[in-house]
Amino acid sequence: MAQDFDVAVVGLGAAGAASLHALARAGVSAIGLDRFVPPHDHGASHGETRMLRVAYGEGAGYSPLAARAKQLWREIEARTGARLYEETGLVYAGPHSSPFLAETWRAGQLHGLGLSKLAPGARSGLGFEVPGDWRCILEPGAGFLYAERAIETLLGEAQALGAEIVTDRRVLAVRPTEDGVEIEADAGGVRARRAVVCAGGWTAGLLPELAPLLSVERRTIHWFADPERARTPAAGFRPFYIEDEQGLAVYGLPNWGGTGVKIGEHIEGVAQTSPEEVDRAVHAEDEARLRAMAARWFKDLGPVVKSQTCLYPMSRDQDFILDRLPSDRRITVLAGLSGHGFKFAPALGEAAAAMTLGEAPPLDLSMFALSRFAP
Ligand SMILES: Cc1cc2nc3c(=O)[nH]c(=O)nc-3n(C[C@H](O)[C@H](O)[C@H](O)COP(=O)(O)OP(=O)(O)OC[C@H]3O[C@@H](n4cnc5c(N)ncnc54)[C@H](O)[C@@H]3O)c2cc1C
Repeated sequence: MAQDFDVAVVGLGAAGAASLHALARAGVSAIGLDRFVPPHDHGASHGETRMLRVAYGEGAGYSPLAARAKQLWREIEARTGARLYEETGLVYAGPHSSPFLAETWRAGQLHGLGLSKLAPGARSGLGFEVPGDWRCILEPGAGFLYAERAIETLLGEAQALGAEIVTDRRVLAVRPTEDGVEIEADAGGVRARRAVVCAGGWTAGLLPELAPLLSVERRTIHWFADPERARTPAAGFRPFYIEDEQGLAVYGLPNWGGTGVKIGEHIEGVAQTSPEEVDRAVHAEDEARLRAMAARWFKDLGPVVKSQTCLYPMSRDQDFILDRLPSDRRITVLAGLSGHGFKFAPALGEAAAAMTLGEAPPLDLSMFALSRFAP
């Protein structure tokens, strides 16, 4: 049977937009489908900004991938003229016992990222206070991405290179056939030789064999007023990641363009939910919990000017899943980005495209293989 496309990409959040982009750049005929109109606020890829760090506290093994992604973001900026990345530097703070900070420092040393330790005297002007005996690290080459603009740009360039994009189209099943993969959808299905599934928190519904490895958590983010513009990059305020003695972290991004200071929490043990059942309203207790955590470092947080809910599609070990399905090698999955995947999108998309086309990815990403979960 004739196939409509070489590759179909299911889901066009950060992961799928980047995969489609890489496939289009590789010159294959590709189609991307999404149940909404990306960029949208139903999944994990919205909220204006995303941190980009290369000294990687989750594991120094991520640093080459982050560096590759940063290079690719820069190349996309140069080709399209879109401004996607602000290199503001980023400050990490936490007690000396923090494994995350220790790994951040180690990754910085291992990969020559020019990190510096900020002594208590050098910390005034950061815009927050941390105990004098804490570890405080500056990563000068880190910064933040414009999330929705980045997705628009990836999709725009993919389309300009010939990729087809179908929105408001819900994929119901991804089914291997004798000579390809059938993408069944609520209107007009598609046949392709291969498929890449990047459905974020919806992935387990499409690939039930992966359900034991995936879960979904709910997070909220809040923007705090900054009327005096004291927390802008121009005022020396940088993105930050502060972890306390219990390992609870708040992270934030500066007031950029007058939207306020964005602050979120990175915590463990959050109840599992699903994209269908998740409570998408933001409640007073969400803001109160975050405000209480942040108040230790920020004495004068203004009122909240905006809040959003967001999904964290998690893998069982919080490392990404990027592999071809053992049950059918024509289907690649890129999922479980576990609350830290946006920065990597173009490098993950590049690798997903290579794998799908039967080529070796530019970097060894075997740490994301499904075989790591084998009993
Ligand atoms: C609050 C918050 C803060 C974060 N901060 C950072 C950060 O600072 N730095 C960083 O690197 N990362 C960060 N992350 C993580 C990062 O944003 C995510 O890892 C990444 O956006 C996940 O992208 P995704 O494409 O896997 O998922 P999604 O964005 O959820 O995309 C999945 C897509 O699949 C589509 N889809 C699903 N099912 C179907 C179907 N059946 N048919 C068709 N389409 C379908 C959905 O509509 C959606 O567009 C943060 C995440 C959150 C929530």
